[in-house]
Amino acid sequence: MVSAMEIYKLLPNSACKECGFSSCMALAVALLNREKKLEDCPALFDPKYADKLKKLQELLEPLQKASETGLIIHEEKCFGCGNCVVACPVNVAADPTGCAVGQGPKSDRVILVVEDGVVKCLNVKECRRFGPQGTQCNACTATCPSKAIEFV
Ligand code: SF4
Ligand code: SF4
Repeated sequence: MVSAMEIYKLLPNSACKECGFSSCMALAVALLNREKKLEDCPALFDPKYADKLKKLQELLEPLQKASETGLIIHEEKCFGCGNCVVACPVNVAADPTGCAVGQGPKSDRVILVVEDGVVKCLNVKECRRFGPQGTQCNACTATCPSKAIEFV
């Protein structure tokens, strides 16, 4: 997972404050949390920072694919075992005859499902991590043997 320090090292580090923050590290954290975009740092678009900009774009690209909870699915690592599907407490509560007894989902209120051998995220607003009151639930990531799910 990308860190704020990795992002920070690629920023101009000029502390110009044009992004609205007093330091480039604060912007790095905001970029990591998807609260700001690279375009919010005008200095970065100076041609002298072209290499850094390119690296930052590559580094931050996976974050653009994250759901509202920050969940990213690395489809190439998922082999469809379903561990996360039956471990998710929301799936279990919403699906007493499917996920709760270790079977595939029988309810359309679940969050994680395996389709065509790859996990998919549905009903993201039901995730325990959703919104400002969200918790640090990690049942899905903790039970994945191939690190195919992560939160950013
Ligand atoms: S974070 Fe928790 S509630 Fe959200 S999908 Fe993962 S296991 Fe389910
Ligand atoms: S994300 Fe991980 S735990 Fe979930 S189905 Fe894919 S490999 Fe299995």
